[in-house]
Amino acid sequence: MRINILIVEDERNLAEEVSSYLEHFQYQCRIAMTYADALEALSEKQYDIILLDLRLPDGHGTDLINHIKRKKFESGIIILSAIDELDMRVQALNAGADDYLVKPFHMSELNARLNALVRRNKFKGNNDIEFFEIKADTVKKIVLVNDKPLPLTQKEYELLMYFISNAGKVITKDAISFSVWSSHSDMDVSNEIIYTHIKNLRKKLLQAGCNDYIRSVYGVGYKFQA
Ligand code: CA
Repeated sequence: MRINILIVEDERNLAEEVSSYLEHFQYQCRIAMTYADALEALSEKQYDIILLDLRLPDGHGTDLINHIKRKKFESGIIILSAIDELDMRVQALNAGADDYLVKPFHMSELNARLNALVRRNKFKGNNDIEFFEIKADTVKKIVLVNDKPLPLTQKEYELLMYFISNAGKVITKDAISFSVWSSHSDMDVSNEIIYTHIKNLRKKLLQAGCNDYIRSVYGVGYKFQA
């Protein structure tokens, strides 16, 4: 399943930079450079995530959030705001935005926040997730394999949740490092670290009698697939 992203941003260079960066990670992006463009885009389809600049030439981002909430769209909203827009940012968060980034931001930071939001939304209203013999309570952060608790470290747990929420897709090592090691998004998490954590997770799953769902995709990353 492709994640659809609407980028509402009137700075063309920034909008295009964000778009080409995210498309590299298999996100489907559309750019709206005005409030009117954004309204039109939203009338055509639902977006999983909206990246929203607050100051638009013909309107205000917060009004767009109100519109989205009125329509009961379930899009996640990340505000892209300038440093001097603190009041607006607070207003936008109160209106129902999920997160914000202060410009200028690193693309890796955007990707990390985005992944976190996609994961939260995907599991929203459903604290229990299931993947064949694997069950997880995402509130208590407990994983069961064949109904027996499987003790995992925090990183192993996050990896497993990331794998399950992206099941069937090829996941690059970059995407894993950005999403699971998001607090260190500006540092490069070495492939060695990722490899070690995945190896340990896989071993624990197999020892618990779980099928082997983690596949290496040579030169690219991994795929979690039944
Ligand atoms: Ca602007």
